[in-house]
Parts: sequence; structure tokens; C-alpha cells
Amino acid sequence: KAVKAEQPEAAPVAEIDVKISSRERVIFPDSGETKGDLADYYAAISPLMLPFAANRPISLVRCPQGRAKKCFFQKHDSGTFGDYVHHVPITEKDGGTEDYLYVDDAGGLLACVQMGTIEFHGWGAKAEAVEQPDRMIFDLDPDEGLDFEHCVRGAQDIRARLADLGLVSFAMLSGGKGVHVVVPLRRGESWDTHKDFSRRFAEALSLAEPDRYVATMSKAKRKGRIFIDWLRNQRGATAVLPYSARARAGAPVAVPIDWDELDDLENAHPYSIKDADTLLNRARDLRGWGFADQALPAV
Ligand code: ATP
Ligand code: MN
Ligand code: MN
Repeated sequence: KAVKAEQPEAAPVAEIDVKISSRERVIFPDSGETKGDLADYYAAISPLMLPFAANRPISLVRCPQGRAKKCFFQKHDSGTFGDYVHHVPITEKDGGTEDYLYVDDAGGLLACVQMGTIEFHGWGAKAEAVEQPDRMIFDLDPDEGLDFEHCVRGAQDIRARLADLGLVSFAMLSGGKGVHVVVPLRRGESWDTHKDFSRRFAEALSLAEPDRYVATMSKAKRKGRIFIDWLRNQRGATAVLPYSARARAGAPVAVPIDWDELDDLENAHPYSIKDADTLLNRARDLRGWGFADQALPAV
């Protein structure tokens, strides 16, 4: 049975002594936000973001010249992030070992921003236990042109089906097109178990409602449907972290929301990096979001 877990204390607001260079550089040309604005957003939001972002292997979307220029997805350390960004060696499929990145404080987030990071993506496991995932995500990817309300209904369906299995879930707006349904889980199961469970869950949904959902990535099969992207739940996959900015027009952010709010939303990007104060105020109503002490049901 699912037990609501106490949300850990928000991280303390610490002095951050990371120097941000080129604060005036425009990173979001459509809306004008600069690297300084982005750094200020992350400094302000860090107490809310760190409970989700800290001590997890992360991948970064770096756009050193701004989002309209070349961006790249970075998984491994290039040796240039400084002391605030830590390393965790992880065995690769080929048997070799690579250093992945993690941060544990606001300085770490800011050190990444200094290196041109816009987006933070996280593993579904902590750095100290990379073989034991602690959350499952269903990433709803609607076909081009599908109204957002379909995505909302999809997330609500998933929530209800998870509840039938005794699992509490939470909704996050990706800051892009879709909604992520997040299922916090007690550590202990393997990646294979998480992957199998999420695949079977997505397949069951697409079998039950084939006109609305697909469980395969193929764009052709997605026509007018929502792809329930369960592949976020395999070892090595990442998902955008709560409160991460997105390298998209308007400087949107990925945000936790209450299930009650979902019906009234028109898209998955109602907040931007300008809204740190609003998001900090909302946090009171979102206490407990993303935390539950529960395990996958035995099947
Ligand atoms: P949207 O709501 O617009 O779909 P999203 O964050 O869910 O936003 P997806 O394209 O569905 O975007 O990607 C899901 C996740 O896959 C991302 O959050 C990211 O962690 C991971 N991902 C995306 N692009 C890459 C990439 N180039 N390399 C590795 N992982 C990626
Ligand atoms: Mn998605
Ligand atoms: Mn996806």
C-alpha cells in the first residue's frame, strides 16, 4: 500500500560563490533573457529543485552561444566544470566505465549554467545506487497538432490506472509539449524490472485504447495519438528534471503541478524563467509533490 512520504526539507539557501561570466549574453533571443537571468533563476529556484536534482547522474543541454545556436547533450565530464560538479563512475554497456556528472548544491547548478547549460536532465536513480531506480516516468508525447487536452486526459488515465495498482503518481509539465507522470518508488528493484513494468503498462494502455495511445516510438504509428514514452525507465535514460529551464522559445521551465490544476491548463509551458517568485510561492501548495514511499506491485 502506498504511504505518502514526508517531503524532505527544501535545501537551505546557501551562499553561492560561482562566478557567472557574460551575464549580458542573450540566451533566449525570442524573449530576451540573458545568461545572468538564467543564473538568477537557478539560484532562486535551487531550494525547490535540489530535492529532485541533487545526487543524481545528470545530462546537460548546453548552448554556450544561446538556444538559437549550436546546443549539445552532455553526459560525461569534460574536466571543465570545476569543484562544484562531482563525478560518479558508471559501467557502460560495453563493459567500460565512464564518469557521469552530479551536483549536490546550488553551486553545482550554477557551475553548470556558467558552462552554458540551459537544461538539466536526470537519471531515475541516485549516484550512490545507480543500479536501483527510485522513480518511474511516463512521458506523454502527443502527435504534432494534437490538442493539449488530449495530453491532460492521457495523464489522468495513467494516474487512475496507477492508482488501481496502488501507486501514487504526480504530474509535471515538461515545459515543452507534453506531461510527465512521475511515480516515486522505494529503491530495491532493478532497471530490468522497471523497464518491463513500464513497457507492459504502456502496452496495456495502447491495447485498451488504440485510437488514443501508442507504446512504440514510431512517428508513423503516432498519427493523432499520444506516444506513452516508457523508455525513460531504462538504465541510462534521463528525463528533464523538475524546475529545469528548457532550451525552447520563451525560456519555459518544467514544473510540478497539482492534479487539480491540470484541467485548466492550455499547454505544457505556462511558466518561464521569469516566474521564479511565482514558483516559489506555489511550492507551499505542492508540498509532498514527487515523494511517496511505495513499491511496484508484485505481478
Ligand atoms: P516534450 O514535452 O516536448 O516531449 P520532453 O522533455 O519530454 O519534452 P522528449 O523529446 O519527449 O522531451 O524527451 C524525453 C527525454 O529524453 C528528455 O527529457 C531527455 O532527458 C531525453 N532526451 C531528449 N533528447 C535527448 C538526446 N538528444 N539525447 C539523450 N537523451 C535525450
Ligand atoms: Mn516528452
Ligand atoms: Mn519522449
